[in-house]
Amino acid sequence: MAISGRTKVIAIIGHPTSQVRSPTTVNAELARRAVDAVLVPIDLEPDAVPAFLDVLRHWRNAPGCVVTVPHKSACAGLVDSLSERARQLGAVNLIRRADDGRLEGDMVDGEGFMQALKQGGFDPTGKAAVVFGAGAVGRALLLSLAAAGIRRLVFSDPDTKRLAQLQQLAETAGVASLLSVGAPTDLGEFDLAVNASPVGMGTDERLPFDPRTLPVHAVVADVVTDPADTPLLRAAKAHGCHVQIGNAMSDAQLAMQLAFFGLL
Ligand code: NAD
Repeated sequence: MAISGRTKVIAIIGHPTSQVRSPTTVNAELARRAVDAVLVPIDLEPDAVPAFLDVLRHWRNAPGCVVTVPHKSACAGLVDSLSERARQLGAVNLIRRADDGRLEGDMVDGEGFMQALKQGGFDPTGKAAVVFGAGAVGRALLLSLAAAGIRRLVFSDPDTKRLAQLQQLAETAGVASLLSVGAPTDLGEFDLAVNASPVGMGTDERLPFDPRTLPVHAVVADVVTDPADTPLLRAAKAHGCHVQIGNAMSDAQLAMQLAFFGLL
C-alpha cells in the first residue's frame, strides 16, 4: 500500500538491524491484509534507547515498536507495565503505546515457538524435551513449554551462570519440578530436542548436539534463522526426524504482533 499521512508506523529497534527479517515479512503481511501501516528498521545505539521510548510515548501514529537484540532487557526496565511473562523473563520483544502515552511490554518469542510446534502437529502434553541454550530464548521456552504441559525438561548450556538463572526462573514460576540441567549425550528418551543457541548460524558448521541418538518420532527444532537449513536440521532429517526451522517461530509471531498493536 502507498504510504500516506494516515499510515501508522511501527519501528523495529535493534543494533544492528541488517539481519532482521521483520521489515520483509511484516510489511508483506500488512499488504496482504490491506492494513495501512508500515514497519521500518531503526538501528539504534543502546544509549539512545531511553530517549527513543520517550519519543514513542508522544508518537501519535505509532501503535508501538518491535524490540530485538540487544535492547530486549533494557526496554523491559523502561516501559510502564509488563505482561506477567515479560516480567518473569525480564525482557520484551513488543511494546504497545496506549492513548495516554503509557508503554506496555510483552514477550512472545515463546508463544511463537509453541504455535509453530502446534502448526507442525506436535502436542507437548506429557512429553519430554531437551533444550540446548539457556539464554533469552531458552528462558522463554522454559515458561511456554511448562505452560503447555510438558512432563520433563532438560536444559544444557556451557555457561553455568545461565543455567543458575534458568533454575531461579523455574523456581519463581513454580515449574522447578519439571526442570533438570546437564549435558545429555544419549537423547533416546526425548520427544523434542531444540537448539536455542546461536550454534549453526551463518557459516558455523557445528552441531549443538548429535541428533542420531534421538528416537525417529522426535521433533528437532532450531531457532537459528540464517541459514534456514542449519547443519543440525540437515543431520536430523538424515536421521529421519521431523524438523522445525527457525523462521517457523518468527512467522508464527506475525499475527500475534499485528493483534498486539491493534492492527487486525
Ligand atoms: P543468548 O545469547 O541470550 O543465549 C544463547 C545461549 O546459548 C547462551 O546462554 C550460550 O551460553 C548458549 N550456548 C552457546 N553454545 C552452546 C552450545 N553448544 N550448547 C548449548 N548452549 C550453548 O541468545 P538468544 O537471544 O537466546 O538467541 C539465541 C538464538 O536464537 C540466536 O541465534 C538468535 O538469533 C535466535 N533467535 C531466533 C528467534 C526466532 O524467532 N527464530 C527469535 C529470537 C532469537
